[in-house]
Amino acid sequence: MGKKSDVQLIVDGKRTDGRAPEDVRPISMRLDVVSRANGSAEVSFGKTTAVAAVYGPRTLFPRFMQESDTGIIRTRYNMAPFSVVDRKSPGPDRRSTEISKVVRLALEPSIFLEDFPKATIDVYVEIIQADGSTRVTGINAASLALVAAGAPMKDMVTAVSVGKIDDTLIVDLNGTEDQNSQSDVAVAIMPRTDRITLLQMDGVLTKDEVMTVLSFAKENCHKINEQQKKLLLEKYTGE
Ligand code: UDP
Repeated sequence: MGKKSDVQLIVDGKRTDGRAPEDVRPISMRLDVVSRANGSAEVSFGKTTAVAAVYGPRTLFPRFMQESDTGIIRTRYNMAPFSVVDRKSPGPDRRSTEISKVVRLALEPSIFLEDFPKATIDVYVEIIQADGSTRVTGINAASLALVAAGAPMKDMVTAVSVGKIDDTLIVDLNGTEDQNSQSDVAVAIMPRTDRITLLQMDGVLTKDEVMTVLSFAKENCHKINEQQKKLLLEKYTGE
């Protein structure tokens, strides 16, 4: 990553899966996919599918982990062994530990945790199919699942990846693009205020490119958030 790839990823203005640079893959979203959870959702961006399940707010045990003046959120991101063609060895690794942490940091500012002293909200993100951009897909699913769980929130969190391949900025990297990208940026925002809650960048971009990446990310996050809100309105108002 970082260098221009030997593989040509854009031919006649089209990416390997036929998309234009600014296109996201087809997005599908479903609520209530884990009946035992307080809230759950499944989100797919093309062949990347994340399931998120939320438990809580509930009293945090062991007791010594409780915060007397606020609740906490705990997150676990996991890629299923069958989610990629080359089986992924099960269990936590450095990457999943890092992503669990950044998913927590991306979601934390959106929740009124101070309303739940001594409590935890547990968020599980399981990637059941991985083809690039799994952390942002997981954040979109987790945000829906938090709303469905009734967690009091300041705003939703919506995320997308933007990157650079063949010297061109693109939205929503697939797995091949991720592996061969010159740069890969994961962005999450709270759409009502455009506050950025996640910004991670691999590779190299100029300052102007970073600004364009952020505007692409915001524009697409707003579109994705409309889809999230539409689904929630259907559930809660039947509209
Ligand atoms: N990937 C994989 N095996 C792994 C980890 C990742 O095949 O053990 C692939 C998967 O398609 C993933 C992509 O590499 O979506 C990019 O991973 P990255 O760490 O950049 O995070 P992501 O873009 O998924 O948030």
